[in-house]
Amino acid sequence: MNLEQNQIALITKMVAEKLMSETSETACDGIFDNMEDAIQAAYKAQKELFNMSLESRKKITNAIKAELLLHVEELSKLGAEETGMGRYEDKVIKNTVAIEKTPSVEDLMAGVFTGDDGLTLLEYSPFGVIGAISPSTNPSETVICNSIGMIAAGNAVVFAPHPGAYNTSNLAVKYINKAIVSAGGPKNLVTAIKKPSMESVDTMMHHPLVNMLCATGGPGVVKAVLSSGKKAIGAGAGNPPVLVDETADIEKAGKDIVNGCSFDNNLPCIAEKEVVVVDEVADYLIFNMKKHGAYELKDAALIHKLEARVFNENGSLNRDFVGKNADYILSQIGIQVDPSIKVIIMEADRNHPFVVEELMMPILPIVRVKDAAEGIELSCKLENGLRHTAICHSKNIDVLTEMAHRIQTTIFVKNGPSYAGIGVGGEGYTTFTIAGPTGEGLTSAKSFTRRRRCVLVGGFNIK
Ligand code: NAD
Repeated sequence: MNLEQNQIALITKMVAEKLMSETSETACDGIFDNMEDAIQAAYKAQKELFNMSLESRKKITNAIKAELLLHVEELSKLGAEETGMGRYEDKVIKNTVAIEKTPSVEDLMAGVFTGDDGLTLLEYSPFGVIGAISPSTNPSETVICNSIGMIAAGNAVVFAPHPGAYNTSNLAVKYINKAIVSAGGPKNLVTAIKKPSMESVDTMMHHPLVNMLCATGGPGVVKAVLSSGKKAIGAGAGNPPVLVDETADIEKAGKDIVNGCSFDNNLPCIAEKEVVVVDEVADYLIFNMKKHGAYELKDAALIHKLEARVFNENGSLNRDFVGKNADYILSQIGIQVDPSIKVIIMEADRNHPFVVEELMMPILPIVRVKDAAEGIELSCKLENGLRHTAICHSKNIDVLTEMAHRIQTTIFVKNGPSYAGIGVGGEGYTTFTIAGPTGEGLTSAKSFTRRRRCVLVGGFNIK
């Protein structure tokens, strides 16, 4: 998906113009000139939604899902083209699961206490207006799952998309509003602005009508929302290790790791970022990874050359490599391979920058350890307390249990590719906002509510 720069610029400009012209004609697609108007409109819409039934909310989220399913290809194509990152075919999968597997009002199951003193209900009520900051790596997926969950919970949403992905995010906002209105819901329940900026995010974060913030992105934005003084959900960076021990099904592990790591060119925060493998099975694992689309770099000089291209002089990531195809990355160090190559692997020291940094590109370093105990210890160190995601391939229940207990990640996948953790080929619902730092975990409608207790004294206990 490496289009020429001028092609990307042209497509982006065309979509931006389409959005601009259509938004000025129709005032209900949620896209505003400035943040103040976007917030005011969302505030008004939430007041209307508040007076509607749960059944209406369900009808609205069903309509959103039905409408978005018509635009999966368009959103996926634009997402890949506008950002220049990821793989179209994987974005189709990501958008589809976000639409189909994000829970709606069924997530809001009430709790209850009954006894001699009566009956107490635990209910979930909306926050009001939520300010949601979305990343470049899932530009429509985050808008989709946040919108469905937040609306199901009774809220309105104001999005602040990434400046490098806002055409895609705003297009999703537009389709979502169309669906809401068609289902009898309020206009502008989901809003954004035509051209986001840091100033507009700042306005949103400190606006008195915004009751809650939800940031999906790197450490900077998570820190920013947690310093805002508002209730905030922070879904931050990860560096997911995958441990393979000697009891694992090595053929399957090799295939799963290549598939998980290369999914959308490693952009997902949950994707395998480094392999930790027990020495006695390392060679066979590498053999199987190569069988399923990995290219092994062995020459130290070439690995060094790659490192010099992946990182800028100041140590920051070279954004030109983020989310790019493996064959493109290899071509930048003079190696031509078939586009069927999905991942670049190499053996590395445990302190190598490829191992300790979150790269978000299909480069997968492999570190050998003497046994599973050492592997668990190293995996915990590399995960670095982010509490995000880890994967383990093992048939030893003690190893699986020990690693899950010690590493304390929000997602722990056993014997599968990382994406099973967000419901792609694994059980459970989907989200693209995985809140490790603030503890909500895989966010859903319930995460965007206030817990309330409603107490009836001395009655309705029928035991
Ligand atoms: P990013 O942090 O550069 O940007 C994310 C969003 O935050 C953008 O909208 C950006 O404009 C905004 N932002 C950044 N710094 C800000 C600040 N100081 N104040 C206010 N807003 C700010 O991230 P990205 O490159 O778009 O996405 C990749 C990162 O996001 C990776 O670290 C990845 O692990 C993480 N991520 C996490 C999850 C999750 O669910 N935990 C999901 C997707 C991405």
